[in-house]
Parts: sequence; structure tokens; C-alpha cells
Amino acid sequence: MRYSKAFIPTMRHVPKEATMASHVLLIRSGSVRMLSKGIYSYLPLGWRAVENVARVVREEMDRTGAQEILMPFVQPASIWQESGRWDGFGPELLRFKNREGADYAIGPTHEEVVTDLVRREIRSYKQLGFNLYQIQTKYRDEPRPRAGILRGREFIMKDAYSFDADAEAAQRSYEGMVVAYARIMTRLGLEFRAVQADTGAIGGDLSHEFQVTTPSGEDVLVLCDKCSYAVNVEMAPAYGDGWTCTPGEAQGGTSSEVHTPGAHTVEEVSSFLGVTAQDILKTVVLHDGDHHHAALVRGDRELNLLKTARLLGVREVFLAGDEDVRRLTGADVGFAGPCGLEKKVESIIADREVEGMAGFVCGANRTDHHLKDVHLGDIGADVRFADLRKVTDGDGCPRCGGPIHTEKGIEGGQTFYLGTIYSEKMDATFLDSGGKSRAVEMGCYGIGITRLVAAAIEQHHDENGIVWPIEVAPYQVHVLQLGAGEQAAAEAERIHDELEREGLDVLLDDRKERPGVKFFDADLLGIPVRIVVGEKGLKQGALEVKTRDGSISESIPPSDVVGRAAGIVSDLRDEALRSAGERAGSILKETGLQK
Ligand code: ATP
Ligand code: MG
Repeated sequence: MRYSKAFIPTMRHVPKEATMASHVLLIRSGSVRMLSKGIYSYLPLGWRAVENVARVVREEMDRTGAQEILMPFVQPASIWQESGRWDGFGPELLRFKNREGADYAIGPTHEEVVTDLVRREIRSYKQLGFNLYQIQTKYRDEPRPRAGILRGREFIMKDAYSFDADAEAAQRSYEGMVVAYARIMTRLGLEFRAVQADTGAIGGDLSHEFQVTTPSGEDVLVLCDKCSYAVNVEMAPAYGDGWTCTPGEAQGGTSSEVHTPGAHTVEEVSSFLGVTAQDILKTVVLHDGDHHHAALVRGDRELNLLKTARLLGVREVFLAGDEDVRRLTGADVGFAGPCGLEKKVESIIADREVEGMAGFVCGANRTDHHLKDVHLGDIGADVRFADLRKVTDGDGCPRCGGPIHTEKGIEGGQTFYLGTIYSEKMDATFLDSGGKSRAVEMGCYGIGITRLVAAAIEQHHDENGIVWPIEVAPYQVHVLQLGAGEQAAAEAERIHDELEREGLDVLLDDRKERPGVKFFDADLLGIPVRIVVGEKGLKQGALEVKTRDGSISESIPPSDVVGRAAGIVSDLRDEALRSAGERAGSILKETGLQK
């Protein structure tokens, strides 16, 4: 491809709202453009990267024997009503009516469609033992699309669904997908951890997330330094089986109000009153869609919203809005406390640790005021205690007691062992070998194709631009033709053509631009191998061949550069495949799926 003819609208400056590296660099490199919130166009470079991720996913899915299909993304309400998710999925499901007034949705995922497809065809156990996948645009009306294509509303997903006759075969299908996912992530050059995960709106009882580890991730992973324990923090219990706490002196009546002007946060209150964060009780006002609740945690702890939702028996809980907090507590945000709140909220719940607190500081439900020397008895209401806090660095591993640490991750993919939850609801049954009717055992497996492109950049960039892993890179070799001389132009053309003949994807920068501009753009675009073809080099009989990550930088005779560049690309690919094989060999042990 000749740069002078390519549509690569690079930018020096990006919109202020782009803060994450992948978002900034995808825009600056002319790879994507936003049409509307969470909805993007993929330009030639961006689309090539997307297609590369899709190619690797396809190769690895096909390798497991899974078969590619394409299902409709416009889905009738009836199948969602059958599964119970028309009401259960929430506002992320974008619904509309067609011209006949019938209800439809745009597919956020395809369990219903695929179950409907399969139930019409399956009669006997002999037909089972297959996996169907598709690569397709999904739509989820995300409340907060963020970071460009990392969390879009419209995005491309690979979703696969396995169908087996019994639990044992289904477990093997599940393991096969875990291995395939390990190969996919590794081939794409991504550092990842497979962690146990909540099954969320999809359902089922066994699930792993494939988390691309990066400080910019929004998920928190809890990892044991001693054993293989690895879970999403949402799932991590804070208290092992033997954990107890000595209840604090509950007798109240000693509390008094103190003036704490402008002290909203735990840090501000602790420095204002000269107490530690452990001496402060934090009151979090929550909303579950129907009711408000107050949740109490120690000042140095964070509330885990998933555990809280489970305790309350609701699908999701949210932090109450500022307006609600003001109305319920009668005070600005930052001054909520449990005393006197019981009539304003449906329930007051607290983390187990709170039971051990006494003589603490909490909000007074009056702006700029706190209470001190408070005891649980002062709350004047029943408080339900449960494991509600987030696990954090310094906690013990719930499995082996060893030290744990946390890391941030971007969820690149998730596997679910569904069992029969969909097949029972939707009547996808078959006759087993004994002639008995049984529900099909299912699994489902998603990978965010477009998200992985962004995740690859989060892990692979520097201050000058993208550093594409070889399998994702839109082009593998970038030929920079420097100067206006005819010889350099002819030589650059020859190298470009020969590399293409070798089957490589090559971008030839033949633009009439200064060398500085070309180097600047080459760093920004991040193509793995670079060849510099300038008059000076040609005169000296040595051209520069370099990798974008700086690991290789050589001056070699012009006649050798094609062979050398092709050699580097194939070494990088081989290395990606080799590591993929290695990680695939250990992933089932790593996840504890096999001993
Ligand atoms: P998240 O927790 O990030 O919202 P999810 O758990 O709801 O994701 P799944 O239903 O597990 O997502 O979907 C499978 C994969 O699709 C995810 O692992 C992720 O890579 C991708 N994905 C999900 N939502 C989005 C989105 N809004 N934008 C881009 N990719 C997404
Ligand atoms: Mg998920």
C-alpha cells in the first residue's frame, strides 16, 4: 500500500475527552472515528487490526472444531420472553417496534437465538457435541460508553455456543474453549490472567474472564502469590471460613456532634479530627432500582457492589445520586451517617468488620457535621452484617491464607458453563441413549474483537505511539522512502513489491514529506518492522532495518533487506505461536480446571 494513496487521517491533537492511551492513539493514528456516543467507524488501519484479531480468533476456533455461522442481530421479543430476559436483561437491551408494532431487540448476545436454532434441529444425543460461533456486531445500550472502542455501545464480538449431551462432555467443551482463549490472547501478544468470574446477566455456574492486565483496566483481579487462586474482585470473599471478630461495645449514648466544615471524604475527616480511617464509619447510600439502602463499611474499606446486590437479592445496586442523598439525609454528600436513617431507607446493612467497631466517627446527616464516640447501639435500627467489602492488597487468600495482591485488567473475553438454564426454559431437549428426554448442556464463550484491538494498544505503546504486536499490526513492514531522489524511490518500490510478493503486508511511505514527519508518523502508526531507504544509506550500501519496539536495529546491504525483514516477521510470528502453545499447555492447571 502506498501511503500517498491511503486514507490515514493522522492527527497531532486529540479531543480532550480521550484520556486512555488506546483511545488517544486510535484517533491520532487515523484508525477510528466516532459517529455518536459509543458508536465508531473503523478506518483502513483500524479495520485491518480488527480483521487481524478476527483472523486469529477464527483460526483458533476452527482448530477446536467449532464451526462458524452468522445469526441475525435483529431478534424478536418472543425468544427473550421465553428465556425470561426480556424483563431481566435491563436497559442495555435496545428495544424497538417494527412496522407491525411487534417488539424486537438488537442483539447484545445470542443465547436465545442459538438455543432456538438448535432446538428445532436436535432430536437425539447422537447429534450433539458441537460448537457454533459467529463474529458479529453487537449492540448494548451501555450507560457509560468510555475510552473509545474499549467500551462501545456498538462493538464486534466473537460469540460461541457449545451443545453437549451430558455434563461431562460439556465440561470438556468448556475446557477446550479455555485452552483456545489462552492461545488467542497469547498469539495476539497480550499478557493476561484467567480469573474466576461472576456470571452476571448471562447466567450459569462456572465462568472465567480473560483479563488483559494493565494499570488502565477497570476490573480488579485478586491474585494469590502462593496458590493458583485468581478471581475478579467482585467475587472475592473478604473473610475466610474461620474469620470472627469480637463485637465492639455496643452501648450507645456517648456520641456528640462536631463541626467539620468542608470535610467530605474519609481523608479529610481523619485529618480534621486527628483520627485514623479505621476509626471512621463510612455510610454509602444505594439505590436498587426500587428502594434506597444504607451500607456501612470501615473508613479504609471499599464497598463491593456485587456482594451488596446479592445480599439485597437484587440484580444490581448503584450509588444514589447527589439529589437523593440530600433528600434522604438532609445533608450534602459526604455527611451521611446511619443514626436516624432507618426511616428513610429500606434497610441498613454493614460489612462484618463493622461489628467490631466502637466509639467511631460517622456522618451526622447535617452538612459540615460529624458525630464522634458513636456505638452501634446509637444507630437505633437493625443492622444486617455480611461480607460486603472489597478485598484489597494485604488481605489473606481465602483459599490458602497466603498473601494476595491485586492487579487491574481489561476483560478481553469470558467463558460460561451454562448447564441447562437456557435449554430448560426454552425446551431444547433430546432423547439420551436410554430414550429419556433431557435438556441440552450448554456453554457460551465471548471475545471482544474490537475491545482487544484497544487492549493491545493499552499494553503496547510508548510516548510516541503504538507498538503493535505482530499478529494485530495493520501492516507488518513500513518502508520509509526518504528524500526526493529517483534512486531511493526506485529502491523503496522494489523493496515494497518484493515484500508483498513474499506475502507480507507492507506500507510504503512515498509521500513528499520531510524525513522528520515520516519518522514521527511511523512511530505513531507502530508497524512492527521498519526499513529506511534514503540516498545516504544507498550510497553507503547499508539500509536500516529496525523493529518498532527497539529490540532490533541493523544496517544491512540493500540486497538483503527483504530477506531480513521477512525473517524478522516470521520469527515474531513463530515466537507468538510458540508462547501460545506453552500457555495453552498450562492454562487448565492455572485455572484449577485440571489438577
Ligand atoms: P463488561 O463487564 O466489560 O461490560 P461483559 O462481561 O458485559 O463486559 P460479556 O457479556 O462477557 O461482556 O461479553 C463478552 C466480551 O465482549 C467481553 O469479554 C468483552 O471483551 C466484550 N464486550 C462486552 N461489552 C463490550 C463493550 N461495551 N464494548 C466492547 N466490547 C465489549
Ligand atoms: Mg463478561
